[in-house]
Amino acid sequence: MAKDQEKCSFCGKKKSDVTLLIAGLDAHICDACVEQAETILKEELGALRKNVDTSIFELLKPVDIKKHLDQYVIGQDDAKKVLAVAVYNHYKRISQKPAKKNSDDVEIEKSNIILVGETGTGKTLLARTIARLLHVPFCIADATVLTEAGYVGEDVESVLTRLLQVADYNVEAAEKGIVFIDEIDKIARKSDNPSITRDVSGEGVQQAMLKLLEGSIVNVAPQGGRKHPEQRMIQINTENILFICGGAFDGIEKIIGSRLKTNMIGYTSANERENLDQDNMVQYVAPQDLKSFGLIPELVGRLPIITHLKPLNSETLKRILTEPKNALTKQYIKLFEMDHIALTFDEEVFDLIVSKSIEYKLGARGLRTIMEVIMTDAMFEMPSVLEDQQLHITLKLAEEKINKIDRSLLMVA
Ligand code: ADP
Repeated sequence: MAKDQEKCSFCGKKKSDVTLLIAGLDAHICDACVEQAETILKEELGALRKNVDTSIFELLKPVDIKKHLDQYVIGQDDAKKVLAVAVYNHYKRISQKPAKKNSDDVEIEKSNIILVGETGTGKTLLARTIARLLHVPFCIADATVLTEAGYVGEDVESVLTRLLQVADYNVEAAEKGIVFIDEIDKIARKSDNPSITRDVSGEGVQQAMLKLLEGSIVNVAPQGGRKHPEQRMIQINTENILFICGGAFDGIEKIIGSRLKTNMIGYTSANERENLDQDNMVQYVAPQDLKSFGLIPELVGRLPIITHLKPLNSETLKRILTEPKNALTKQYIKLFEMDHIALTFDEEVFDLIVSKSIEYKLGARGLRTIMEVIMTDAMFEMPSVLEDQQLHITLKLAEEKINKIDRSLLMVA
C-alpha cells in the first residue's frame, strides 16, 4: 500500500487525518484508537478488581472517626460529629444488600452534606483527613471551574471523571465514593431575577448539579473534558455517591442575623435575643439562609445536612500552629532534624505569629506565610554551619525578621 493510503485498521481513518499511525505486521492503529483501547482496558480490568472494602466500618464507629479527625483538625467539633456520622452511615448504606422489588426492607437514603464556614477554617482539611481514613474513592472538585454544558469551562460531569480516575476506572468502586465540592457558594445565583441574563456559571451550574446529587445515571467522559469527542462514555450511577459541599458564603451572617431578628420580634424576650452568639452567627445557619444567599431551593433540598465551621480565634490559631499531628512547627522541627539541627522556639514567637496573622487578616493560611518569613534565612544558612547543632528562635529574632520584610508582601499573601 502506498504510504499516503495507509489507514487505521480500527477506525478506518487515513494517515493524513490522524496525528500518528503506528504500523504492525499486517495492520495499523492510530493514536485515537490506542487511547480508546487503553480506556476500555482499564474499565474491563477495573470491573474484575475486588469490590470496595466495607469491612472498615465494623472497626470505625463515629467516635473513632472523630478521634482520627481530632489528630489533624483543631476544634470544629460540630462539623466533625456531623461528618463522622454521615460517613459512618454512608458505609452502612453501601454495605446494605440491594433491596429486592416488593420487599419491605427499609432502604437507607443518602444524605449529602453542606459545610458552611469562612475560608481557611478547615473545610478542605476535614475532607482530606476523612479521605485518608477511608477505603472508598474520594476526590475534591472546585465548583468555580464548572459551567453549564456548552460554555467554556468544565461540565459538571467532570467531577465524576475525577472520581472514576481515583477509583482506577473501577466503575463499581466509583459508584460508592465520596466527592467534596469546594466553593459551592461561588455558583450562587447572581441576582434574584434569574431571567435578566444567562447566568452561565451560577444557576445553570446549580441546575446541572441536581442530577448528580439526587442519584441518577450520568454519562461520564472517562478522560474528561471535550478534547476527546470520540471517547466512549461510561455510565455512572450516582445513587450511592456521597456529596459533601463546602463554601465560605461571605456575608451570610447578615442574612442569618436578619432572619433571626425577624423571627424573634414579638414573641421572644430581650434576654433570648441577647443570648445569640454575635461573633459566630454562622452556627445558626439554616436552609432558608442558603436560599437567600442564592442557592436554588432544589439544590438546598438535595443537601439535607447542614453544618458549620467556626471562625478561628487567636487561641485556636495558636493550637493549630503547635498541636495537630503535622502542625507547622512540627514540620519545621522535622526539616531541621534532617540536617541534625535541634530547632526550638520561645513560646512568645507563637503568639507573635498568631497576632500577625490576625493583624493581616490571613487566618490559618497566614501562619505558614509568617513562619516562612521568620525561618527562611535560617533554612538558607543553617545546613552549611557544621558546628552549631542548635537553633533557638527568640522573640527578638522573630520580630526582627518580620519588621525587616516589606509589609505589603504580607498584605497580599
Ligand atoms: P477552607 O477549605 O475552609 O478554606 P482549609 O481547610 O484549606 O480551609 O485550611 C487552610 C489551612 O489552614 C489548612 O491547610 C490547615 O493547615 C489550616 N487550618 C485551618 N483550619 C484548621 C483547623 N481547624 N485545624 C488545623 N488546621 C487548620
